[in-house]
Amino acid sequence: MKSSEYLYNPRVCKGLAVSTREREEMELRGILPPAVRCRNLQVKAVIQNLDRFEENLSKYIYLRNLQDFDEELFYKVMMEHTEKLMPIVYTPTVGLACIKYSTIFHRPRGIFLTVHDGGRIHHILGNWPERNVKAIVVTDGERILGLGDLGANGMGIPVGKLALYTALAGIPPELTLPVTIDFGTNNQKLIEDPFYIGLRQKRVKGPEYNDLMDEFMEAVVQRYGRSCLIQFEDFGNHNAFRLLEKYKPNYCTFNDDIQGTASVAVAGILASLKITGLKLAQNIFLFQGAGEAALGTANLLVMAMEQDGVQSEEAMKKIWLIDSKGLIVKNRPTGGITEHKARFAKDYQNLTSLEEIVKSIKPTVLIGASAQRGVFTENVLQTMANNHKQPVIFALSNPTDKAECTASDAYIHTEGRCVFASGSPFEPVTINEKTHYPGQGNNAYIFPGVAFAIMACGVHYVSDEVFLVSAKALADQVRKEHLAEGRVYPPLKKIHDVSFNIAIKLTQYFYAEDFATRRPEPHDKIAFLRSKQYNYARPLSIKLGRHPY
Ligand code: NAP
Ligand code: MN
Repeated sequence: MKSSEYLYNPRVCKGLAVSTREREEMELRGILPPAVRCRNLQVKAVIQNLDRFEENLSKYIYLRNLQDFDEELFYKVMMEHTEKLMPIVYTPTVGLACIKYSTIFHRPRGIFLTVHDGGRIHHILGNWPERNVKAIVVTDGERILGLGDLGANGMGIPVGKLALYTALAGIPPELTLPVTIDFGTNNQKLIEDPFYIGLRQKRVKGPEYNDLMDEFMEAVVQRYGRSCLIQFEDFGNHNAFRLLEKYKPNYCTFNDDIQGTASVAVAGILASLKITGLKLAQNIFLFQGAGEAALGTANLLVMAMEQDGVQSEEAMKKIWLIDSKGLIVKNRPTGGITEHKARFAKDYQNLTSLEEIVKSIKPTVLIGASAQRGVFTENVLQTMANNHKQPVIFALSNPTDKAECTASDAYIHTEGRCVFASGSPFEPVTINEKTHYPGQGNNAYIFPGVAFAIMACGVHYVSDEVFLVSAKALADQVRKEHLAEGRVYPPLKKIHDVSFNIAIKLTQYFYAEDFATRRPEPHDKIAFLRSKQYNYARPLSIKLGRHPY
């Protein structure tokens, strides 16, 4: 191997960690200074460098550069400092990184397709250096977190999600591919931004959009096979539901905003029952928002109640939703009730103020997923606390400045009685000498384990039940001591084990239900999954593309 090949291949490069013998063999003598530095010391240096940056965006840029220079070190750092670094590589900082993506753009990562690539998608996928791709995260950039249309800048999301595939579930990074499909953007600021990396045109819709999406899905199957997972991420609402329904039966696919979010939210609700002492169907659920996250969760809650023996009609009665036009009630004069929302429309008065709605229907569980900062006002929170002893309040919107309320607002205005979780992380809050630990209700607890099991088992079809199995597996990992601290999710520092345990449950489910195509069925599922994980000290031969999939 030539030294230039070594230094510019992040998959192989390990900086000063190359041994003296390897330096001789690889003709690296003189290319590196004489010191040999072990991986652990390299991790320490990275953390020291990171701590010197004041701005989170600078930390993000530093970490992305590390990923582009020495991938293994990047993942070692991510894996060993997950709690500290997730807010950088993922929400909330990834939101800012997407806003600035064009300006901070250095080395490209992922495949950038555009609406002008019709007829050539299969060919373009072939430009990606890896041949054996087993998972793709794709976005069209239309609804990035709660930030709206960020066009091609949305690439930060597939890149960040896939970093977590490896850092949290141990999925080998060479098997993954981030994709952005650029259909234009309706964000005029981007079109006028001289740095913008995407197409400067309005978003395309209709047949042109649909045909390109169809071509993309087919091209993936032709290149990588029927078991290549395609995770949809941050598509606009009108496309997200439609494309999920269209592709679910015939492709290995799921939509993380609808299904992954539903799974993490239901897990948090299931865990909260151990605090409130209620049965699932004894709750009244109110969603602020009736989009991908809210409807996905509402539908999964119905499935969870059905598995408890509740009729679906009864289950739906427990679930209320609010969209941008107010409470979703039958014959609403302002309309706007799509088929997906209509399942949950009630015979009820037409209310629009959240505070009035909370007073009127007295939800036990209030879930925010509308990207409306601060809508859980002091009055709303106090009303929740007046209605119930231990109200459950989830502010799921991302990034942090879109949250419906902060953790301290939630605890302070409910006299520390609420069970709180949020999409982006908040620090613990101490009131009257009791410290409350808010949970992070983020699909990061779900999608890495789900993707890992799907990939390991060679699953072709991702059923909705996958997300209930995962939700239950996650809720089961919330221990008494976590509940005592007010947590409805296991602490983030456990997230690797949590993801692995979800993958074990799913592997059992995939074989039991005949969704797994990898035969024979492994007797020891744990050893089977371990053998599929990223190895931080892999021999060069494996690093160069031969791996256990
Ligand atoms: P979406 O499909 O666009 O849905 C947004 C919903 O909010 C729509 O139903 C919209 O109403 C409603 N809305 C807008 N303004 C409102 C207002 N003033 N009052 C009440 N409702 C209002 O988006 P989404 O995918 O569900 O995402 C929503 C938020 O959830 C984002 O901030 C996202 O970051 C977050 N999220 C969090 C996670 C997590 O893991 N924690 C995962 C996914 C998404 P209409 O239907 O009338 O337009
Ligand atoms: Mn998302």
